[in-house]
Amino acid sequence: MAFKHHKYFPKARDVQAFLFPHVCLPCQKSFKKPASPAPRRCPQCGEELIQLSRKFKAPRTRDLGQWEKVRFLVEQGFRFYSVYERTEIGEIRVNYPASLAEAKVFVCGPVREAGPTARGTRKGSVGAV
Ligand SMILES: [Zn+2]
Repeated sequence: MAFKHHKYFPKARDVQAFLFPHVCLPCQKSFKKPASPAPRRCPQCGEELIQLSRKFKAPRTRDLGQWEKVRFLVEQGFRFYSVYERTEIGEIRVNYPASLAEAKVFVCGPVREAGPTARGTRKGSVGAV
């Protein structure tokens, strides 16, 4: 039998699966931590960390343009959960914008973010779901 049952994998792997990126926008850093109901603080500057979806891939600290985009999307209420766009044939999943310029167009579009908070829902773009 070539495949090992998942129970043979180390326990740490399970814990790893429940870590979420927590970002500090001022420091432009992401920390992987378990989800917590209480706010977490940045170990570097003490700012409150923002928990994002596990789909989020943190840019390099020095990549100012990408962090500018992340900051903008977070300010707009997006948390990097899957995003759907309403089209004539129904809702289709769309990718997150690659640049700040694209992000500015993106947030004005008929997009809806899935996820626990779903704060990405834009007014008037998608009917009550
Ligand atoms: Zn910080």
